[in-house]
Amino acid sequence: MNIAFIGLGNMGGGMAANLVKAGHTVRAFDLAAEALEKARGNGCETFGTVREAVQGVDAVVSMLPNGAIVKSVYSADVIGQASAGALFLDCSTIDVATAREVGEAAKAAGYEMVDAPVSGGIAAANGGTLTFMVGGSDEAFARAQQVLEPMAKAVIHAGALGSGQVAKMCNNMLLAIHMIGTCEALALAEKNGLDMQKFYEISSKSTGYNWSLNDYTPAPGIGAASPADNGYQGGFASALMLKDLRLAMAAAEAAGAKVPLGQHATAIYEAFNEAGNGGKDFGAVFMTL
Ligand code: NAD
Repeated sequence: MNIAFIGLGNMGGGMAANLVKAGHTVRAFDLAAEALEKARGNGCETFGTVREAVQGVDAVVSMLPNGAIVKSVYSADVIGQASAGALFLDCSTIDVATAREVGEAAKAAGYEMVDAPVSGGIAAANGGTLTFMVGGSDEAFARAQQVLEPMAKAVIHAGALGSGQVAKMCNNMLLAIHMIGTCEALALAEKNGLDMQKFYEISSKSTGYNWSLNDYTPAPGIGAASPADNGYQGGFASALMLKDLRLAMAAAEAAGAKVPLGQHATAIYEAFNEAGNGGKDFGAVFMTL
């Protein structure tokens, strides 16, 4: 397949490389010269504009920072420019309303589009083990599966257009809440004289079981290996967690959904980011307790 790939940053760079490894021709574009150079090293063809990159392709994959950029790239340079019949897959994490708006605009111009945000960080993008949550028609999902498989551990059809973004923001709001709860429980145990490692051994096999505790323990040297063991470097940046929480809060407000713990988690990550910790793994909130 001929696939255009737009946005070759921390995530997109590895994803595009995995499409090349699977035997696809990847026509890459990014605003950053450094990203393009790396993509060339990984076997992508690179282009000076989005419009050139989307010529003659079967699919367009994008991995961009936010909804405003996704909307401007698709409306200015992809919709109406890509070959007729090309499938569009936006893998960025963006707001639900923009995902639906861009998808509808693509449909009106005769293209099929899916929103396909991912769970898994840079290591999963490089390793081809991302989980994709896909919103779109049955037909679009069937086509999207073929494109996504070389980059994926799992590809799940969430529902209609926009549903992938709904799944992503709900998942990450839940992740923030159980991360903060896990940090609080570890610190509370310690401050009451219970060794944190003992607490980990007990709670990870009890009803406190959750991913943040069991698989990503946020206290240094305790439980499962995580960025906590490495000064909270790497992992999932607190700034990205805050971005996802804000998307969830906006969607909650628009839908009239009550999310008191989500709001509290957002306030905690806002304060944490304002204190200059945006680059640290989101488990570093443990250090504030
Ligand atoms: P990044 O900033 O490393 O990469 C974004 C890339 O897009 C950059 O290379 C930038 O130059 C390029 N770009 C920006 N505007 C552009 C334009 N108009 N045209 C072409 N290229 C443009 O970000 P990332 O970490 O790769 O994240 C990408 C998306 O994936 C985001 O939506 C993010 O929320 C989501 N995500 C990230 C992670 C993670 O762990 N990093 C995990 C899951 C989802």
